[in-house]
Amino acid sequence: MAKRFEKAREYTEKYKDVLLPCKYCKSTDIVITSQKMFGDNKNYWSVCCSNIGCDCTGNFTSVKKAIESWNERQAEKR
Ligand SMILES: [Zn+2]
Repeated sequence: MAKRFEKAREYTEKYKDVLLPCKYCKSTDIVITSQKMFGDNKNYWSVCCSNIGCDCTGNFTSVKKAIESWNERQAEKR
């Protein structure tokens, strides 16, 4: 398993009390994921509701930014 997936799991655990519940399905099971972009060697982070196809942030090079983005999205009125 690639290191970034382990890292993503660690971050999910570390920040689970910081991440707001999903405003759409009320799930508190929020997951931090990592992906690579084609032609780029950086890790990109996003924060997603564990319900596939529910809410998800865009990709950020900073985990902190992805978390901020998630929390801002969930605090917004729908
Ligand atoms: Zn959701």
